[in-house]
Amino acid sequence: MKSQIFWTQDKEMLSLYRKLLVIAASVYMAWWFAIQMLLPQSFNPFPSRLLVSALPLSFFTLSYLSRLIESRIRGLFILSVWLMTIHYFYLFYGNAGEINWIIGCYITVIAITLTLYSTAALLSYSIFVLILSLLLTYFIPSLRESVFLPGLITILGQANLGLRSQQKIIRDLNQSNEKVEKEKRVTQTLAENIRARDEFISVASHELKTPLTSLKLQAQITARGIQSKNPQVYSVERVDEFVTFVSRQIDRLTQLVEAMLDVSRISAGKLTLEFKKIDLVHLVKEIVALLSIQSGESGSKITVETPDQLWIHADSHRIEQVIENLVSNAIKYGNKKPIQVQVSQDQENAIVIVQDNGMGIEPDCFERIFERFERATSSKNISGLGLGLYICRQILDAHGGSVSVESEIGKGSKFTVRLKMS
Ligand code: ADP
Repeated sequence: MKSQIFWTQDKEMLSLYRKLLVIAASVYMAWWFAIQMLLPQSFNPFPSRLLVSALPLSFFTLSYLSRLIESRIRGLFILSVWLMTIHYFYLFYGNAGEINWIIGCYITVIAITLTLYSTAALLSYSIFVLILSLLLTYFIPSLRESVFLPGLITILGQANLGLRSQQKIIRDLNQSNEKVEKEKRVTQTLAENIRARDEFISVASHELKTPLTSLKLQAQITARGIQSKNPQVYSVERVDEFVTFVSRQIDRLTQLVEAMLDVSRISAGKLTLEFKKIDLVHLVKEIVALLSIQSGESGSKITVETPDQLWIHADSHRIEQVIENLVSNAIKYGNKKPIQVQVSQDQENAIVIVQDNGMGIEPDCFERIFERFERATSSKNISGLGLGLYICRQILDAHGGSVSVESEIGKGSKFTVRLKMS
């Protein structure tokens, strides 16, 4: 595998190696050019010298600068090695008996064979030639040229080719990895949306069906009483009970439908706010008084701690909706234990804290419960749509405020609302 030729996959390191390679090649080319120019004319005529000097240089420059694909560069490389071989043969005939030219020819032919075989094979061959040439330079200096030129050309050329393909492989790999990751994220989001939608449909139909079924049942009982002319059905107490029951079920249905409408308004970006100056303390006290009737039934006692007044600039109806939702949740999930509502302020914000001592929420649900249709696992057997906190957060976001939760399973939850003062 070409991708395993180099020991690093770091893009910056690879480009540094390529730069070092260019410097090494340039120094070598200059050196080789000088040697060629210094050779006696009778030994190696000028055009042939020029060819042998220019070939590696032009090949290398081309392979470095061009945007040709690797196979084309390889083709050029093979061509240049062939030309070198011809040149060596030419020199061999002109200088018969010179052992270094014979070795030069031999090595060049091996280089061609390996070039055609594989990058990795040629790279190892190149390293072998380099070591050989260094050894020869040390022990038999007269032989050094015969191995030096083909050896170095192969090393430099191949290293460059290898680096290029390595960079390309890494680039392609990164691109395809990014693409796969992106597709995975899209599929995940789609699957999550579908799951949430399905769950919502089943919860919503259940939630809507429950008050409708009770209404139908009450209507049937009353109708039967009327048919049997039961005088009890017409008693003031019975009619009052019936009307209270019906209006409570209608309130419940209205709330559910309104929550759904709010969600679709938020999704369509049509949540409009009417800002005006409101007294947050007054608003909170009103909501608590109203909900106390409800909490009285369920057993929770609500205490309120507030300053005399706290003026903010906000949409009164929407803030009312937020506080009402948090207090209703505290009643619903509060295990009939006392609830505390607190209004205060810091330098920038008005703060409302709704704290219960109920079932609590698992820490890994802290963020999730503010998402659409999401409910904490601990409360699955208590009815709800999983929309209230989502709507709260959207309303507060639109006000430039925030809502957060702290909670411990079995000990209770504390919801903190922050709203800008001005
Ligand atoms: P709903 O109450 O209709 O399910 P919400 O969006 O108001 O929807 O709340 C989302 C979830 O957050 C609830 O289902 C419940 O699991 C959890 N939760 C909210 N308030 C409390 C609370 N005071 N105590 C414990 N859990 C809560």
